[in-house]
Amino acid sequence: TLRFQSRTALVTGGASGIGAATARLLAGEGARVTIVDLESSSGAEVAAGIGGHFHAADLSDMAAAEAMVHDLLAREGRLDILVNNAGIGSLGEVPDLDPAQWRKVMAVDLDAVYHACRVAVPAMRAAFRAEGRGGVIVNTASLSGLAADYGFAVYNVAKAAVINLSRVLAIDHGKDGIRVNALCPGLIDTPLAAPLAAIPGLMEKWTRAIPLGRAGRAEEMAEVIAFLASDAASYITGSVIVADGGAGAH
Ligand code: NAD
Repeated sequence: TLRFQSRTALVTGGASGIGAATARLLAGEGARVTIVDLESSSGAEVAAGIGGHFHAADLSDMAAAEAMVHDLLAREGRLDILVNNAGIGSLGEVPDLDPAQWRKVMAVDLDAVYHACRVAVPAMRAAFRAEGRGGVIVNTASLSGLAADYGFAVYNVAKAAVINLSRVLAIDHGKDGIRVNALCPGLIDTPLAAPLAAIPGLMEKWTRAIPLGRAGRAEEMAEVIAFLASDAASYITGSVIVADGGAGAH
């Protein structure tokens, strides 16, 4: 039997990388998947490939993010799995960051999770009260939210906040039948990480620090997200799951 048969899933940042791999995996195991992304051509392409739906939205905009979840609920009638995964990287130490860059990274990497949950959590709670169904939320944070990486100031701060937001949602909404966990990927080979190759020596240094000796693949993150979203993780909530090839172990 398929793990996600008759479940409806929403994957943000599903046009690329970890989000696209997650959308494909969930759909392959029976979920009805909606992909949300800024990036409309690749988002529509990924959605078409899995028989899913694509919704273009800038999730840092609260009205757009809320409208997106309302639209999904109107179309699907339910939301079982929310994967808050959209995100952007940001290089710079505190004095280098202009206020606009600080705000933008906080808005995309942190606020967007809050925006989607403002509508998704009440819908999941209502489903739990009406039918005992509840829901699952997986937030893609980062290893750098646990131990900061040199030179990525605001990204580290936003991802640390995503970790605690996941815990906050988990403790407040366990009673509502909603499980919430954070995934902390290490270095994963996706378009987000590609600009790091331009920083002399960085990739070599990071890769040397990974016990498994390589960056991870988007599909490997999708497997962890799918596990957390599945009934096999029915007693896991408020947890932070690290998937980093061992980078954070030393
Ligand atoms: P990616 O760039 O391949 O995918 C991110 C997607 O988010 C893109 O399709 C992008 O268009 C979308 N997005 C960005 N801003 C958005 C907005 N305002 N509204 C809607 N969509 C938006 O990168 P990825 O590596 O797959 O990243 C997925 C998540 O994993 C991110 O939250 C990232 O911070 C996190 N992460 C990545 C790594 C890594 O090494 N790649 C490591 C740790 C955490």
